Amino acid sequence: MKIVMLGAPGAGKGTQAIKISEKYNIPHISTGDIFRSNIKQGTELGTEAKKYMDQGLLVPDELVVALVADRITKEDCKDGFVLDGFPRTIPQAEALDKELEKIEEKIDFAIEVDVKDENIIKRMAGRRACVDCGATYHIEYAPTKVEGICDQCGGKLILRDDDKPETVQKRLQVYHEQTRPLIEYYNGHNILKTVDGAIGIEDVFNNIVEILGA
Ligand code: AMP
Repeated sequence: MKIVMLGAPGAGKGTQAIKISEKYNIPHISTGDIFRSNIKQGTELGTEAKKYMDQGLLVPDELVVALVADRITKEDCKDGFVLDGFPRTIPQAEALDKELEKIEEKIDFAIEVDVKDENIIKRMAGRRACVDCGATYHIEYAPTKVEGICDQCGGKLILRDDDKPETVQKRLQVYHEQTRPLIEYYNGHNILKTVDGAIGIEDVFNNIVEILGA
């Protein structure tokens, strides 16, 4: 099962992608996580990506496409994967389709997690990420057991630079200009499924499972 998650930053697609990955036993591939881990390790890719990420801008297509093309052809992806944060532009979607064509595969589902902009802004302000492992939480909707401490690794939680209100506004603008056209793209391929992302995490997930099949 090859799945693409769509939706504005902060719509909750990452949270749902992790749940899908666990239930269907397929890798969760988040380009944002890959960039953040590269930044942490101080790689050349990380240094380059950070310049764009800190401004709420997209990392250039050529950097992202090569990385994903390499990842999805790994052995663990042969039964499927869930892509989170990729594609984010039409050229990325076309490049992904081309890569999959080479191995006679295709995307089966594009799942859009739909949340209005005003809710996104509220949500992002409450989002917290672990400085050590990158796990994300929400002070209201998905709190940690101990305030400010990661449930998974005990690391300290912070508000990520790109979740700060001024950067969120920019990311939303970029989303509408560059990523939103993907809704039409996947609708045209008859694989778009939209779920309401404004309901609780478990309810959103149940609706996704209904689409994917139990
Ligand atoms: P995310 O965690 O998916 O919200 O990604 C955080 C940031 O990483 C984005 O705001 C972009 O700067 C960058 N990024 C992640 N995925 C992509 C992508 N597919 N194309 C371009 N930039 C990306």
